[in-house]
Amino acid sequence: MPEKPEVITVVNTLRKKLIGRTLEKVDVYWENIISYPSVKAFKKKISKQTIHEITCRGKWILFSLDTDYLLIHLRMEGKFFFRHHETRDKHEHVVFTLDQEEQLRYHDTRKFGKMLLIEKAKLETMDPIASLGYEYYDERLTPSYLKERLKKKSLPIKTVLLDQSIIAGIGNIYDDEILFLSHIHPLKKANTLTNKNLKEIIENTKITMEKAIKLGGTTIKSYESAEGVHGKFQNELLVHTKKECPVCNHKIEKIKVNGRGTYYCPKCQK
Ligand SMILES: [Zn+2]
Repeated sequence: MPEKPEVITVVNTLRKKLIGRTLEKVDVYWENIISYPSVKAFKKKISKQTIHEITCRGKWILFSLDTDYLLIHLRMEGKFFFRHHETRDKHEHVVFTLDQEEQLRYHDTRKFGKMLLIEKAKLETMDPIASLGYEYYDERLTPSYLKERLKKKSLPIKTVLLDQSIIAGIGNIYDDEILFLSHIHPLKKANTLTNKNLKEIIENTKITMEKAIKLGGTTIKSYESAEGVHGKFQNELLVHTKKECPVCNHKIEKIKVNGRGTYYCPKCQK
């Protein structure tokens, strides 16, 4: 599943080709992808709107249009491809026509992706954006903020860091990396972390995210941003999918935490 750095890579790829272009029309071939408003209203409202900017919040991609934001979540396997008007692939579920030459096609083999079209004035007060937690670079992300948000959470910290309403943008891979760098065992209960632990989580989230963004994200399994763009952070992973600890050489353990494959070093992460 793409996390923040992979989403940023997708945004950068799309931005190069789409800013200033107009969405002439959209065809929807799998209606469940459109979660707001109705498919009919989505198609009607979006047509003829121009793309002014493309950004992201958490793992959501935001197209700033004339009067609305188009929000897209890639979930497990969503990808974009630019195509001429050739025959549609069966996994291309939403097709945006840009002009007579070109279409932007949303491809999703598992159909878990989501799209919404929200009026600009309502963006911050409507879900999904209203319930998102702070971004890794937000100055309000402090140890005291985390302490307050985690005080009633007795779940493992590994699980809590995936909660997008606390810190937005962390997924399974970077979660493992952040906890390794912070010397915290993934099963440690979130409400038992010290101030020092919380400070390290915040610092290592910034370090990990910034480095991964610089390298275009991590290419493992299903992630591919668009048109064959590959990230390079997989070469920098310290613990996720690894066999041996790069610090102490101890064998890396793999466990399941709330169903998510989790890697850690039992010697460095107590
Ligand atoms: Zn170790």
